[in-house]
Amino acid sequence: MTELRGVGIGQGVAQGPVVRMAEALPAPEKTPSAVGADAERTRAREAVAAVAAELQQRAETAGGSAQEVLEAQAMIAEDPTLQDEVDTRIDDGSTAEWAVHDAFAGFRATLEAVGGYLGERAADLDDIAQRVLARLRGVDAPGVPDPGHPFVLVARDLAPADTALLNLEQVLALITTDGGPTSHTAILAREKGIVAIVGAVEATTLANGTTVIVDAAAGTVTTDPSAAQLERAEARAAARAAAVDAPPSPGSLADGTAIALLANLGKPADAAEAVARGAEGVGLFRTEFLFLSASQAPTVAEQSATYRELLAAFGDKKVVVRMLDAGADKPLAFLNDAHEENPALGLRGLRSLRASEDILREQLTALAEADAATNADLWVMAPMVTTVEETKYFTDLAREYGLKTAGVMVEVPASALLADRVLAHADFASIGTNDLTQYTMAADRMLGSVAGFQDPWHPAVLRLVGEVGAAGARTGKPVGVCGEAAADPLLALVLVGLGATSLSMAPSALADVRLALSERTLDEARSLAEVALAADDAAGARNAVAEAAAALPSHQKETTS
Ligand code: PEP
Ligand code: MG
Repeated sequence: MTELRGVGIGQGVAQGPVVRMAEALPAPEKTPSAVGADAERTRAREAVAAVAAELQQRAETAGGSAQEVLEAQAMIAEDPTLQDEVDTRIDDGSTAEWAVHDAFAGFRATLEAVGGYLGERAADLDDIAQRVLARLRGVDAPGVPDPGHPFVLVARDLAPADTALLNLEQVLALITTDGGPTSHTAILAREKGIVAIVGAVEATTLANGTTVIVDAAAGTVTTDPSAAQLERAEARAAARAAAVDAPPSPGSLADGTAIALLANLGKPADAAEAVARGAEGVGLFRTEFLFLSASQAPTVAEQSATYRELLAAFGDKKVVVRMLDAGADKPLAFLNDAHEENPALGLRGLRSLRASEDILREQLTALAEADAATNADLWVMAPMVTTVEETKYFTDLAREYGLKTAGVMVEVPASALLADRVLAHADFASIGTNDLTQYTMAADRMLGSVAGFQDPWHPAVLRLVGEVGAAGARTGKPVGVCGEAAADPLLALVLVGLGATSLSMAPSALADVRLALSERTLDEARSLAEVALAADDAAGARNAVAEAAAALPSHQKETTS
């Protein structure tokens, strides 16, 4: 058994035999034909016809939108103009390989020049040309293989079309040697729920047929696993599948402690998906996402209609709306377009709203209107609140507009350290771990060069979360977490152990977090939090908590067996 590492996408686990994706074929040399034009023409015709037939067959099996794409490819392969171009080159003495390569490349350039729909088809020509070349050379065609049984696909990277067309009945998991967590492949894999590990550099050593366990949660690929490891992976996959398919229930720990699982949203149109995935409300509605490209502040009427649509989608559930969060990663020219040396430390969040109080007042007016017109339980909060005075300023103002639940985001160490005094004024706190990590670790969240510091598992960040959690418990006020950290199932447990009473995340993360919470009691979450706090760094905390969690008894098994 050996273990390879990469970046896991999602929380799934899968196992199966490796099938490698064939690499792109090198372009043929321009050499004269040794067999003569007639023979080359026949070779080319047969290869093209075989590829067209294969694409047509794949189209019929694929169905849906994939069928249309593949049928279009089959038609392009046999396009008579293209055929003439191939023949002309062969008549000039070329091999079938060179003629196909050169004719398809020329046709590609023509389509690209036309643009529009035809331009978009240009990339398909490369795929067809590669398939015809592979036929002519008698080698495997590049692209997603079809071995006729379920398999773990290993590739350097996938073209977007390959990922979109993946047959999820056949592809058990995906491992790529290239790409990172934000690569196109990773984004599509996340969207389609494919168990995937990207950037697994050593996966080049994986041979066809090797059995592997792909553990996206751990970011590992285990080759030649033992029977016991396969059994454990199988059990985990089954539990996860059951949890994802089960009708969503409210978030709760194994001992019954309720932890509300809420959605992070940027537009009302995303509400339906959140509701379908069992969101118990909205923990963070990022209002600035609605106006990122606007040069002028949105009107009260415009805002009111949008907020009404959002609130209506959630019935009588809780919806936490954040006031416009301008600055740094979320520029809003109408709130702050000044050049700042360090925009993350500048006039952003509540600071910029306060500098344009009319815009803040208009937003509160629109929210109060939407609140009056709907049944949802509207909570409002201000971003990047640093001081107790700012807390009092915002919550007093919100109440002036009749908004009954007013809180603050804790994203700056200063407000985390004084959380008890902040909570003396605010009705609730919501911890933004993305910014809290940025400000605790002094690492700009936009800068790749310091991305290594941007890890919410760092015990310094967790200690601050613990300060807010403890203050919430002392004052009896809710403390939510709405940064990306809440979407990591293991870290979610630690956050609960540190005192978080609700977690808000991208809707796609809800099922995995719900499952992780259901497996542990509050006492266990607290003990895992202690383990994390005792570590020296983020990696140490993550590994120690993973180890400690694995050693805990499984409540899931106790209740289901
Ligand atoms: C955060 O900072 O964690 C947060 C939730 O807000 P945003 O990511 O929008 O800054
Ligand atoms: Mg933030």
